[in-house]
Amino acid sequence: MRFDLTKRQQEILRLVADRQPITSEEIAQQLGVARATIRPDLTLLTMAGLLDARPRVGYFTTGQGPEQVFSSLIRRRLVKEAMSRPVVIRETTSAYDAIATLFLEDAGTLFVVNEASLMTGVLSRKDLLKAAIGSGNLNEIPVHVLMTRMPHIVVCSPDEPAYDAAVRLMNTEVDALPVVEVADAHPQAGGSSPSPAYHPIGRFSKTNVVRLYTELGAVRQKGANL
Ligand code: ADP
Repeated sequence: MRFDLTKRQQEILRLVADRQPITSEEIAQQLGVARATIRPDLTLLTMAGLLDARPRVGYFTTGQGPEQVFSSLIRRRLVKEAMSRPVVIRETTSAYDAIATLFLEDAGTLFVVNEASLMTGVLSRKDLLKAAIGSGNLNEIPVHVLMTRMPHIVVCSPDEPAYDAAVRLMNTEVDALPVVEVADAHPQAGGSSPSPAYHPIGRFSKTNVVRLYTELGAVRQKGANL
């Protein structure tokens, strides 16, 4: 990631690093410019987290490089700020109707729920392609025989950092994670360990990550090259 601070902004950073705390009058004096001239630079450097100011004391450096600032900016965004709405179908939906839903909803991944609206599986494009090149009648194949089932579904929470979910997307090598809320724990048949039951409330896909990335890039442009 490259940050294009102006020459004067870089000079201000160096000056503050050398002489902190330093007032804006002193900075202006050192640079041989009017105080009003450097006001926008100081505002920008402060907003970017590179400088901090204490009243009646002056400016000092935060010790954070631009990369750390950008990184913490990314980590502050939550899944719920970036997710799309989920596209949900029932377990009994036919493969044919699921394919039609993919086109109609312009989604690559469908979430499958039971009659209680709890998530039971995930269906991807290739799951459906596999069925399409098979010999069966797509109208007669229910999606529950094609989908990846719980508890093998990798999920994310609306309140976790989008960055963490993006790392999970990368590691899992799938296109989308269901964003879920935990419903009541329900005991597994014959077992004592409860498995969580989820309501799908969103979809966090590679597209959402790209959108977030381009949004943050646009902020950088608007923020005078930061
Ligand atoms: P595609 O099939 O278009 O390549 P994916 O890479 O997302 O899409 O899916 C690959 C496989 O992983 C499919 O069998 C799909 O059911 C499964 N899958 C998709 N998303 C998840 C997920 N969040 N957790 C677990 N498995 C998933």
